[in-house]
Amino acid sequence: MPNSLLIENGTVLTLGITYKVLAGCSVLIEDGLVAKVAPKQTIKNYRGKRVDATGKVVLPGFINAHTHFYSSFARGLTKTKPSKDFNQVLKNLWWRLDSALITEDCYYSALIALLGSIRHGTTTLIDHHASPNAVVGSLGAIERAVRETGLRACLCYELSDRDGVGIAKEGLAENAWFIQRCQQQNDSRVKALFGLHASFTISDATMEKAATIGHALHTGFHIHVAEAQSDQDWALRQCSKRVVERLKKFEILGPRSIAAHCIHVNQHEMDLLAETQTAVIHNPQSNMNNAVGTANIIELMRRGVLVGLGTDAMTTDMLEELRVALWGQHLRAKNPSVGFGEVTSALFANNPKIAGRIFGLRFGEICEGAAGDLAIFDYDPPTPLESGNVLGHLVFGISQIEADTTVVGGRVLMENKKLTLNLDEARVNARARELARDLWQRI
Ligand SMILES: [Zn+2]
Repeated sequence: MPNSLLIENGTVLTLGITYKVLAGCSVLIEDGLVAKVAPKQTIKNYRGKRVDATGKVVLPGFINAHTHFYSSFARGLTKTKPSKDFNQVLKNLWWRLDSALITEDCYYSALIALLGSIRHGTTTLIDHHASPNAVVGSLGAIERAVRETGLRACLCYELSDRDGVGIAKEGLAENAWFIQRCQQQNDSRVKALFGLHASFTISDATMEKAATIGHALHTGFHIHVAEAQSDQDWALRQCSKRVVERLKKFEILGPRSIAAHCIHVNQHEMDLLAETQTAVIHNPQSNMNNAVGTANIIELMRRGVLVGLGTDAMTTDMLEELRVALWGQHLRAKNPSVGFGEVTSALFANNPKIAGRIFGLRFGEICEGAAGDLAIFDYDPPTPLESGNVLGHLVFGISQIEADTTVVGGRVLMENKKLTLNLDEARVNARARELARDLWQRI
């Protein structure tokens, strides 16, 4: 069968609802979906491609629910002034960097982030892009990078008034164009949301236009929410509303929408997020780095909010982010016994639900009918590995090694730590270095 893949004889960690540990098990993927999970000897007369997973653990691929591919070119950038607070971080670093991006930078910075994700077993990413002086064509360039790497990604352009009316208009148009393009293509690799930067850089008039277009296209929105207290201060001063209340007024919230961060939200706002079924994405490493606080994800979840986990481009390794999320909740509560269930369900249960709403596939579990997206690790457990302690092995063991093999929709993107793509990684890095050097000179 041409569109099939057999992962043979691994230890399958199903995750999902059942959390089974299936030793000596094989996973058959047909037409992009898991067709069978069964002991090796029961799958006979198979003639397609095989991957030997003997001595390895097989997991559902990870999902990164909030990131910025363009941040790849900030690595090693030294030309930034020290910042006293989050708004200065934006002005001194991110808004200088993104304003200098050209379309080719968008493509190569995305490739760098995507290749890093493959190396860490991340198979689906939800990106938020900004390049104010190269808006038109930016999402198309990133889409090309996504398709060349074989991963799944949901893209958007972060609309903002910070660069004036003309660029805001381009941001509206780029989102609308790309959403329609994805709807026409209707495949399960590339999807779109309507991107908004944050409440404090979007006027009522621009928000209204975005809402009108987004609603007409039946799409959700992807926006930073209350990342710093200053977002709330601006909303209260300018709009006499708190940030989440303002977004509710424009009907930006909803089951297809993503609110990143939500650190400085009150209980009423948490309830609005829960009522509207808006997904909240927690990004602990970024929040610590920017010294903006730690979201109270325990309370958000207790109130019924669907909380997922993102990296905000701090890493391409979801297990690293998971660990930091856990330590962050301990520290926030000054209690080492809280947060394990919430943090692990953010990554392993809620990210799959959030991605499922966008991509229309079942993620996060190795079972019949689920997406054939897998991460395989060469992991020989030094302590018993059983269905009751899989999470302990993920947090403290599997997180310490790189993925061995990464599969999306039955296509092998990396096998035995070697990329199997039509891309030369050394050439990609070399061109990215040239572009980053030029970019830094323009900053
Ligand atoms: Zn972000």
